[in-house]
Amino acid sequence: MTEPPVAKFGLFIAGEEVEGQGGAGRRLLDPAHNRPVAEVAVGGRDDARRALEAAQAAFERPGWATDDGSLRAQVLRRLAAKLSESAEAFARLETLNMGKPLRESRGDVQYVARTLAYVSGLADKIEGSTIPVPGPRFDYTLQEPLGVTVHIAPWNYPLLLAIRSVAPALAAGNTVVLKPATPTPLTAIAFARLAHEVGLPPGVLNVVTGAGADVGEALVDDPRCRQVSFTGSGPVGRRIAELAARRVIPVTLELGGKSPVVVFPDADLDRAAKGVVYGIFGNAGQMCWAGSRLLVHRSVHAAFLERLASLAEKLRLGPGIEETTEMGPLVTADHLASVVGHVDRARSEGARIVTGGDRPSDPALASGNFLKPTVLADVAPTSRAAQEEIFGPVLVTFPFDDADEAVRLANQTSYGLCAAIWTRDLGTAHTLARRIEAGMVVVNEAPVTFPQTPFGGYKESGLGSEQGRHSLRSYLRTKNVSVHLGAPRKTA
Ligand code: NAD
Repeated sequence: MTEPPVAKFGLFIAGEEVEGQGGAGRRLLDPAHNRPVAEVAVGGRDDARRALEAAQAAFERPGWATDDGSLRAQVLRRLAAKLSESAEAFARLETLNMGKPLRESRGDVQYVARTLAYVSGLADKIEGSTIPVPGPRFDYTLQEPLGVTVHIAPWNYPLLLAIRSVAPALAAGNTVVLKPATPTPLTAIAFARLAHEVGLPPGVLNVVTGAGADVGEALVDDPRCRQVSFTGSGPVGRRIAELAARRVIPVTLELGGKSPVVVFPDADLDRAAKGVVYGIFGNAGQMCWAGSRLLVHRSVHAAFLERLASLAEKLRLGPGIEETTEMGPLVTADHLASVVGHVDRARSEGARIVTGGDRPSDPALASGNFLKPTVLADVAPTSRAAQEEIFGPVLVTFPFDDADEAVRLANQTSYGLCAAIWTRDLGTAHTLARRIEAGMVVVNEAPVTFPQTPFGGYKESGLGSEQGRHSLRSYLRTKNVSVHLGAPRKTA
C-alpha cells in the first residue's frame, strides 16, 4: 500500500522557500502514531551561510534597521493579527508535529500572538539618554541593533520558544536566522511564510532546518552572527557559549530545570493537587520549568500523594489532535525510551511507583510514544531521578518537616529555573520566594508566565532572560556619542 502524500516544507531564505543542500527531504512522524505527517527540506552548512548572508544584506539595506521603529511596530502588529486569524491551522500543525494536546497548542499560538503585540509596542520606544559631562560638550547614547541574531530553538514549544526571542530581536531592528529543532520545524517555517505575507522584508527572518551540531554550529561560528539566543539543554548551551566566547559575542541561554513545588499543610490542597498535576503532566512533562520535584509537608504527604495518584489516573491519554485528550505522547520514540530508562533506573534503585511507571495498555495507543503519568516516592534526594532533568511525565516526591528543610531540598540541585509554593501564609510565601534560588517563583498557582514578565533561570538553568520590557536589551548595544561644542566664545 502506498502512503498518502504529505505536505512539503522548505527552508526559508531571503523571502523564498527553497530546497536544502541535504538532498531529499526528511519525513517527520506524528508522535501519536509514528506515521509520516510532512516532508521537510534538510539544511546544511552552506544553507546556514546563505541564510546569514541574506540576513546581513537585509540588515545593511536601508529600512528595517534604520527605521525609527514605527515600520517594525506596524509589521509586528499585522503579524500578531494575522497569526490570531490563522491560529487554528497553526495549532493543528503544532499538535500533528509535536504531539501535545490541541488545547495546549492553541494556548501556545495565542501566546505567540500576544508576544508579537507586546513587543510591537516597544519597537518605537527605543531611546538613548543625554549625559551631563564636563566642558563645552554634548554627550548622548544611541541604542543600536546588533546586526544578525541567531536563534536556536528546542522541540517542546516549537513556535512559542522560537518567537519568544525572535520577536524582540526583530522589534529592536535586527535581522534573524532561526534554527528550529530537528523533529519540530513545521510551525517555524509556516510562521516565516506568514511574516512575508504581511510585509516583512525579504531576508529579515530566515529559517534553516538541519542538525544542531552541523547547521547550529555553522550559524554561531560565523562572523556575521552578532548574538545567539539559545533555548535547549545544558550541554548544548555550554557548547554554544564556548563558541560565542571565542568570537566575543553575547548569548542568552534558556536551559533545563528540575523545579521544586513546595506544599505546606495550610494550602488549599485540592487546588494544589490540580496545580501539581498540570505542572508536571502538562505537555507530557516536556517542559523546562516542569514542577518535577514535589516537596510536601510530612503531615499531609501520604494523603496528598493519594490525591495526586487519583487525578493522574483520570487523565485521558490520546492523540493530541483529539479534542478530549488531556495528555499526549512524547515527542519521539527515542525520547520515550530515554524517559522509560530514567523510570526503570529509579525503580531498580528502590523508588516506589505511586502510580504509572509503564506504557498504557490501550491498543489504540500502542503505535504512539505514550507513557502513563508517573509519580515516584522513596527517592533519595541525591539520586539521578531526583537530580537529572527527565523531561517527561515523571514526578519525584519527598516529605519535609519544616520550612528550613523545604528550602534546603528545594535548592539541592544544580538548576534554578522555577519554583512553586502552596500556602495560605503570606509570610511563608514571601520568605520562601526570596530563599529559593530560582529565576521565577509562583505562589498558589501552577507555573505561569506572560509576555510582559521576565523568563530566565538561575544557576545552571541559564544566562540572561527573555520576555518583559527589558527583553529588547539583549538585542541592542549602546553607543556613546560625545560632541565638543567648540571653544567657548570670548565675551567683551
Ligand atoms: P537540545 O539542546 O538537544 O537542542 C536544542 C536546539 O539546539 C535544537 O535546535 C538542536 O538542533 C540544537 N543543537 C543541538 N546541538 C547543537 C550544537 N552543537 N550547536 C548548535 N545547536 C545545536 O534541546 P532539546 O532536546 O531540543 O530541548 C530540551 C531541552 O531544552 C531541555 O533541557 C529543556 O529544559 C530545555 N528548555 C529550556 C527552556 C527555557 O526556557 N529555559 C525552554 C524549553 C526547553
